[in-house]
Amino acid sequence: MQMMHVSDFVHGKTQDIIYLDHAATTKVDPEVFEAMVPHLQEEYGNPSSLYGLARRSRIKLEQARETVASFIGADASEIVFTGCGTEADNYVIKGTALAKGEQGRHIITSAIEHHAVLHPCQALEKQGFEVTYLPVDEYGLVSPEQVAEALRDDTILVTIMYANNEVGTIEPIAEIGAICRERGVWFHTDAVQAVGKIPVNVDELNVDMLALSAHKIYGPKGVGALYVRKGVRLPPLIDGGAQEEGRRGGTENVAGIVGLGKAIELLQRRGEEDNRREAALRDRLIAGITESISHCRLTGHPEQRLPNIASFVVQYVEGEGILLSLDMEGICASTGSACTSASLDPSHVLIAMGYSHTLAHGSLRLSVGRENTEEEIERVIELLPPIVQRLREMSPLWADARKRGEVT
Ligand SMILES: *Cc1c(COP(=O)(O)O)cnc(C)c1O
Repeated sequence: MQMMHVSDFVHGKTQDIIYLDHAATTKVDPEVFEAMVPHLQEEYGNPSSLYGLARRSRIKLEQARETVASFIGADASEIVFTGCGTEADNYVIKGTALAKGEQGRHIITSAIEHHAVLHPCQALEKQGFEVTYLPVDEYGLVSPEQVAEALRDDTILVTIMYANNEVGTIEPIAEIGAICRERGVWFHTDAVQAVGKIPVNVDELNVDMLALSAHKIYGPKGVGALYVRKGVRLPPLIDGGAQEEGRRGGTENVAGIVGLGKAIELLQRRGEEDNRREAALRDRLIAGITESISHCRLTGHPEQRLPNIASFVVQYVEGEGILLSLDMEGICASTGSACTSASLDPSHVLIAMGYSHTLAHGSLRLSVGRENTEEEIERVIELLPPIVQRLREMSPLWADARKRGEVT
């Protein structure tokens, strides 16, 4: 039987789900699941113990580390497994503050980062650190020149995301990295959305640290990894046992890490093909939606964007209204990041890109994935215009715009 959806219970019917929120999370791939199961059952040894059962866990753990490392052009010793992408970002920011707080107390980031970066930066500000939040242009691009201008003698870290989770814009990481390298400043990138979607090579990108997360790439929730370049010494945030070469205490999430390793293997095997397919579905969504809905435009960079994210602002409607209507049709979408969807604050990303609060409230993000079909995409393109029309008919914004003659 198909899984039931919340709205199925509300409306007393069952229907297939069209999942278009892969930037929020993905379903664990069956091959990933299969690889994990033994480690939740008979292969339960603690990798730090010394008998055969434990050594088998250790071997699998280290194989996963090799797989992750080779996928991003790193050495296995440079990979630290973490509890999630958020933890990896926190480790970089707070770890750098611990390591270098005596040398300097200035950090540079961008206004459009994920909260996993913004909030630890804000936490450090409360402790006397100074943070520069670089502006972005209308497409959400950070300018390398502005990074260069913002660097100071007391700058200890620059952290700029590789690709934005709300609008899909890809940042000029290699250029920014080259600038930081020249100035001898540590450079981190949150690559949680980028991994598996665009090439990620730590040397080509000139990064010292890079965060990724398993559940955005068909792996399990609750496991991430941080690349830390040799020579960059981050003190642990979690003190305890000597796991992860003393960089993170706590018995390793063996099943989760094995799942992450398998998820990466699948990216190696089918990633390029998936991305080609997904880019075509994304382009069809963008064309179909902007052509059939008036006063609706694409957000983010038109070309320099992730292959799987189609993001829009739909004028004269609330994004939440669209989401609820889509949910009734079994379609899962987002107004931006999963973290802001639950609050009424407009997206900080769209605001930084220069959108008004009113426009930012009409944001819609559709992120495609491995299992989406052309039929599903066509169904969304067919269903969305009448939903928007109905919401507009009820909207005072639309009525006002009509009075002003802005719309017909
Ligand atoms: C999802 C996401 C995170 C957080 O990763 P978790 O594993 O969910 O903690 C961080 N940064 C970006 C860009 C993301 O999309």
